[in-house]
Amino acid sequence: MERTKTQIDNYNSKSTELRRYIGDRRSAQITDYESIKYLQFLKSFLFKNKTSPNPQKTMKHFYTFLFCLPFLCFSQNKVEKRLLKKVDKIHAKAYTVDTHADAPINMMDIEGFDVGAKHNYAEDGTQIDFPRMKEGGMDAMFFAVYLGQGKRTPEANAEAKEKALKIFAKIHESVKNNTDKVRLVTTAKEGYATHKQGKLGVFIGMENGWPVGTDLSNLKLYYDLGLRYITLAHSFNNDLSDSSGDPQGAEHGGISKLGEACIAEMNRLGIVVDVSHLSDSAFYDVMRLSKAPVFASHSSCRALCDVKRNMTDDMIKMLASKGGVIQINFVADFLKKPSAEVAISIKTIRMQVQKADATPEDKKKLNAELRQIKYKYPSDVPTVKDVVNHIDHVVKLVGIDHVGIGMDMDGGSDVIGVEDVSKIKNVTFELLRRGYTSKNIKKIWGGNTMRVLAEAEKFSKK
Ligand SMILES: [Zn+2]
Repeated sequence: MERTKTQIDNYNSKSTELRRYIGDRRSAQITDYESIKYLQFLKSFLFKNKTSPNPQKTMKHFYTFLFCLPFLCFSQNKVEKRLLKKVDKIHAKAYTVDTHADAPINMMDIEGFDVGAKHNYAEDGTQIDFPRMKEGGMDAMFFAVYLGQGKRTPEANAEAKEKALKIFAKIHESVKNNTDKVRLVTTAKEGYATHKQGKLGVFIGMENGWPVGTDLSNLKLYYDLGLRYITLAHSFNNDLSDSSGDPQGAEHGGISKLGEACIAEMNRLGIVVDVSHLSDSAFYDVMRLSKAPVFASHSSCRALCDVKRNMTDDMIKMLASKGGVIQINFVADFLKKPSAEVAISIKTIRMQVQKADATPEDKKKLNAELRQIKYKYPSDVPTVKDVVNHIDHVVKLVGIDHVGIGMDMDGGSDVIGVEDVSKIKNVTFELLRRGYTSKNIKKIWGGNTMRVLAEAEKFSKK
């Protein structure tokens, strides 16, 4: 979850329709690559004799081109169909896992929202439900127990724990209501077995360690409820760690003393440490402290989009050297820097949203304005290609074994071509188009993440 995720207000249907249209147009462009290749081939074939232009000959070539056009379209369709078939084949076999899904926010906040029923993104703006996971070939997602950071008094901590337990209960209930198609899973082994049975998997992660409070025995309580990773902090510093987003800057200079003990206990239990949202210093502390590999459940590359929430090349190298994985986040601001004009408008609105006296109504209105900016400047919204640019960057930097996917759907995910979870095959299509093998695509889509989970479990059993 990013920014002001407590306001999941319904999308303005007109704007959503426009975006859908743009999305479909952009998605269609993915296949242009093959047709361009054919056209280049034809051009070189027809205009081989560049040195002696002959008008008569050129006209003849032009008519030949017109004649060939239907065949070209036909062969482009064929190539497209072949790739699409391959995409389906990969999804039929691969175990696809997303490490950051904010579906529980809708389950908690939208009255009557049933994650077991199919919804329509164009109508309600929601991105995840079980039917759409099935449709898209998304086998498992880590549902996030998310709480925005509040006060750190004993009373507030107790309240956070109570709220977290309610979210756990809601997730359990959603699985129980759909036992014919969904299972709660906690290990890589369980995940793969569930996939073999043709069922979807729900893993549980916690975004923000605030509900741990100052009592580390809470970790065992949450572990027993199925928790397998904790993002130590969210957008503000807490008792465990500094955050990359806190306007006050560093408080502990990285991980606190309590945070150190927390990481040791997480290692002991087999809960993965999630470094997304942490300050750079806190990240390096985790690298030093964690005995088991860790991941960044929803972060992208700072080299491609310079924001503090993303990871620098040095951090990605360090993470990989310890066996970890960075799961690419699909939030627009973390994939592609907006143009200066848009950036100023966004910053102005965000400053108003963050004002202490902003009422929920003000925030709702401001968030609607924020979205309107994006519809006004669609070229500023990232596409599937931008997502794969980040994947490419990690692969070039540290190899294929250290990148995964954590889309942050229902928490800010905003990519043209992957509007909701039913459209994730567009990512696979783009990976195939760029020459990734099925084996490597399987690693990206879940294999690498499952390796970290299995290693955390293995360490805990030592
Ligand atoms: Zn987040």
